[in-house]
Amino acid sequence: MATMYGWTGVMLRVNLTTGETQSVPTAELAERFVGGRGFISKIYWDEVDTNTAALHPDSPLMFMTGPLAGTSAIAGSRWFIAGKSPLLYPEQFGLGSVGGSFGVKLKAAGYDGLIITGKAAKPVYMYLHDGKLELKDAAGLWGLDTFATLERLHKAHGDASTAVCIGPAGEKLVRLALAMSDHGACGGSGFGAVMGSKNLKAVVAAGAQKISVARPEDLKAVNSQIRSLIEGKILMDPNVEGLELMKRTPCPGCPSGCPRGLYKHVSGREEVRKNCQSVYMYYLWDMKYHGESTADPFLATSLANRYGLCTQELGNLLYFLDASVKQGLVSDDSAGIALSQMGSLEFIERLTDMIISRKGIGEALAEGTMRAGHAVGNGAEKLLEKRMTRSGFNAEAYNPRYFITNALFYATESTSTMNQLHEVCFPIMKWVMWYATDGAMAPFSTEVLRNIAKKFWLSEKAVDFSTYEGKAAVATLIQNREYAKENLVVCDFFYPLTTADGAADYTGDPTLESRLLSAVTGIEFDEAGYYKTGERVFNLQRAIQGQEGRVGRKDDRVNEFYFTDKMEEEAGFLGVFNPDFMLPGPNGELISRKGAVLERDQFEKMLEEYYAIRGWDVKTGLQKRKTLEELKLADMIPGMQKQGLVAE
Ligand code: SF4
Repeated sequence: MATMYGWTGVMLRVNLTTGETQSVPTAELAERFVGGRGFISKIYWDEVDTNTAALHPDSPLMFMTGPLAGTSAIAGSRWFIAGKSPLLYPEQFGLGSVGGSFGVKLKAAGYDGLIITGKAAKPVYMYLHDGKLELKDAAGLWGLDTFATLERLHKAHGDASTAVCIGPAGEKLVRLALAMSDHGACGGSGFGAVMGSKNLKAVVAAGAQKISVARPEDLKAVNSQIRSLIEGKILMDPNVEGLELMKRTPCPGCPSGCPRGLYKHVSGREEVRKNCQSVYMYYLWDMKYHGESTADPFLATSLANRYGLCTQELGNLLYFLDASVKQGLVSDDSAGIALSQMGSLEFIERLTDMIISRKGIGEALAEGTMRAGHAVGNGAEKLLEKRMTRSGFNAEAYNPRYFITNALFYATESTSTMNQLHEVCFPIMKWVMWYATDGAMAPFSTEVLRNIAKKFWLSEKAVDFSTYEGKAAVATLIQNREYAKENLVVCDFFYPLTTADGAADYTGDPTLESRLLSAVTGIEFDEAGYYKTGERVFNLQRAIQGQEGRVGRKDDRVNEFYFTDKMEEEAGFLGVFNPDFMLPGPNGELISRKGAVLERDQFEKMLEEYYAIRGWDVKTGLQKRKTLEELKLADMIPGMQKQGLVAE
């Protein structure tokens, strides 16, 4: 068999009901869909029945890597857990991006990905090694928390192995259950519950298979350019009380551009933390309750990790509870917990326990925020309109009243928009540091930002936040690039490398990802060709969205409060360091977005422009046959036509 560069060449299909396995050649999908999200989306489109519930045995659970995992490509070791999400509302396609070393180990075990269906008769775990699968009894692991499970599996299978497992939340089918792996890596969107529904406690991978690289010298050259671009990068460690950094714990093959590290807490606990949402999950509540920040948020995150609960969704649940109390919809009696204690350690300990055991308000909360809104009733679901998108993501993050471009991401994306929002806002956050400190803490001036915009986002217009002009083109480009990134499965914190502390002009290089892909696979992708792979999968995702009931323009909506409520405050970093919401405007002059709303007529115009650029029907937002054919998705047209998803 000819060498397949970047891949083992095999994915494994496992039916846990029958124990049957089947090898699937990776090459069947790689040519059109590259890897990662591309593979997941195609398999989902082909195989998932819209009527199959997320927690039904027939619902496939996928673990998928990209072509760079297992090679020396920088920050290319991540992987996805995916399928139908029980957490999103209604149940629909979802995926969680996971760090750590499992993706690399899966390939070392001989597999590019896993497609798991069925339900084992009793708790099992999968042990993959050297191109073989063993289904092992997990009776002794069932009931253990994630930390204990990972430790036991590590002891049983040695240092060369990595496991992904669930905790009590996944076993009890709590919809916000996640899958946990090494070094604090986790995958959300409820896939811990999907594992639980299959009686699958864990998957362990180990082996020695090497991944061949087509052009090792080219790969070395791109890696060394990346290292020089990030030289001097400032690692901002989590700003939480009582933490001491013990050591950095980067994902395999990453020079650690992010603050992922092992931290010691004043209590003596040592755990990995990243400077992301998970570490701040309880931060604001802790501040409110104690009148100052304490060391408790670290322990709150530990608790969630231990149970295998998603901290992102726990944050949404806390918001919902707080809003419900203020509206008088929930009381201590009806909830079964003293709600005035929210922010204390005792409160979060009791609440998480109630969620896991589905006691009191825990029964509604175990279903996730969107479903809890409906379960509490009396108009509680209305409270969510100012916090959650219709699928169940946080609607306040980098919101469109502040950043106009982001309105198109929120309107057209049913899965998480976070990486698209990050592409717009990561450079802006650095600019805010420059602006707020008169350049003392960051060199990313308005001029640097405008240069980045020319290189990455078509023109300086992209960072003129006073106008809707040109934003549709930028949003399209960003979405294509972000989908291409998810096919490649590279780290969102790292790519695209828009800002570069090691470059004389502080601007990065948009060609890095396409060159990594070309060097590893030996198939030539220029920058535009690489984005085309993203555009293809974005269109495939649009079809899945349509199939699951979110069809065309009528469903490309954003939350109403963007149009009606003025932008007055923002709780996160951007609000604290930039309370007047200053941003670059025309010709780099500064403007303030304080008091701004998203203008409805301008939004609709921007949407039409966006459809035209995408080659979709401007009136309905449906995909056109010609566009699908050009994107090599002609095989999907008959299925899409049956569901009224194609405009001729
Ligand atoms: S930047 Fe951080 S999360 Fe991303 S690959 Fe590197 S260590 Fe992992």
